[in-house]
Amino acid sequence: MTTEELLQYDREHIWHPYTSTTDPLPVYPVRRAEGVYIELEDGRRLIDGMSSWWCEIHGYNHPVLNQAVEKQLKEVSHVMFGGLTHRPAVELARRILSVAPAGLEKIFFCDSGSVAVEVAMKMAIQYWHAKGREGKNRFVSLYKGYHGDTWNAMSVCDPVTGMHSIFRGCLPVQQFIPSPECRFGEPCREEDMVPLAAYLEEHSESTAAVILEPVVQGAGGMRFYSADYLRRALELCDRYDVLLICDEIATGFGRTGKLWAVDHAGISPDIMCIGKAITGGYLSFAATLGTNRVAETICSGEPYVFMHGPTFMGNPLACAVANASVGLLLEYDLEQMIGRIERQLKEELAPAASLDSVQEVRVLGAIGVIELKEPVDMGKIQAEFVREGVWVRPFGKLVYIMPPFVIRPEELRVLTGALIRVVKKM
Ligand code: PMP
Repeated sequence: MTTEELLQYDREHIWHPYTSTTDPLPVYPVRRAEGVYIELEDGRRLIDGMSSWWCEIHGYNHPVLNQAVEKQLKEVSHVMFGGLTHRPAVELARRILSVAPAGLEKIFFCDSGSVAVEVAMKMAIQYWHAKGREGKNRFVSLYKGYHGDTWNAMSVCDPVTGMHSIFRGCLPVQQFIPSPECRFGEPCREEDMVPLAAYLEEHSESTAAVILEPVVQGAGGMRFYSADYLRRALELCDRYDVLLICDEIATGFGRTGKLWAVDHAGISPDIMCIGKAITGGYLSFAATLGTNRVAETICSGEPYVFMHGPTFMGNPLACAVANASVGLLLEYDLEQMIGRIERQLKEELAPAASLDSVQEVRVLGAIGVIELKEPVDMGKIQAEFVREGVWVRPFGKLVYIMPPFVIRPEELRVLTGALIRVVKKM
């Protein structure tokens, strides 16, 4: 098949994320990828600014991760997890739980981030069911939040920026409260807590859990808010007997400069979702962590088990590569590594702030965001970035990068330079 034929078949038959099949924007055919470079079929090499949507933290084609998959392939690629277990699952569980926020001692392996959110929500419902409090079955989340594309995950995404407004009429109805205005690094003011406090004061009897992305609201707006808000939200949840679910799917595994975003606040939620970077971008995989209290309560009432068990739960290949990826990450001096990227992003993106088209420039950890005043023309801006030799995929008004952690200063400079030049042209 020539590249032209490949692209034509793709255009005629394959759905891409959030894309029309009748009038799709061009897609770029990838031949291979190595380190921070994505190589196109025509030989062009692009520096990856997206880490393939937060996942590829160690870079592509990493020898340690390759070896983990190859070794596991020869042992066992998959077995059902009902009634069976295996070393990769146990070793991964032990590694993650040893560095998880204190108190999270049970882990449920899932197929993807959205499923991890579904599982977390089901855990919260079963928790209150087991306590005989059936009425506690609704969720509170933040405007501008994003938690995935499956049904219940969609129901807790911001109804507008969460990209699912078309389904509003048929999704379970949840409660949204304003996202905190207090910014990262600043203390939280009393008024920031009023919406959550007022809602829980009145509705705690019908509320199962608060679900939020700690510190960074990702796909719903790329906003960074005060860690203090998290601390106070947990206090409110405890006071009103409501569970706190933290969705660390995007923020987990070091992206914000700490291993978990909740570490900025020094808190432990009742339930935590992790995914994306867990396998270093090799396979779709995620997990939902919970406290012993959550697990024991769920199993203390009818039906005495947690009602979820996907076919590929605990897939050995995914567990093996996740174990290798988390092992690598824990060998890094994370604060130093992300601190370096953060300083460079702050310095090199700052000039964008004075451009007429730019609303704001913000950086946290290895995340750099240029928020524009108007939405981008996706086809045009994408082609400009490829011409610059970088892979950056904006959405709406947000032009942002979250590069692989292993990116070198000179490679990051190419990315930030391209960002400024392309934004200037918009
Ligand atoms: N939660 C958050 C915070 C996310 O950023 C995402 C993915 N963008 C998800 C959940 C869903 O994960 P997945 O795409 O793996 O289903």
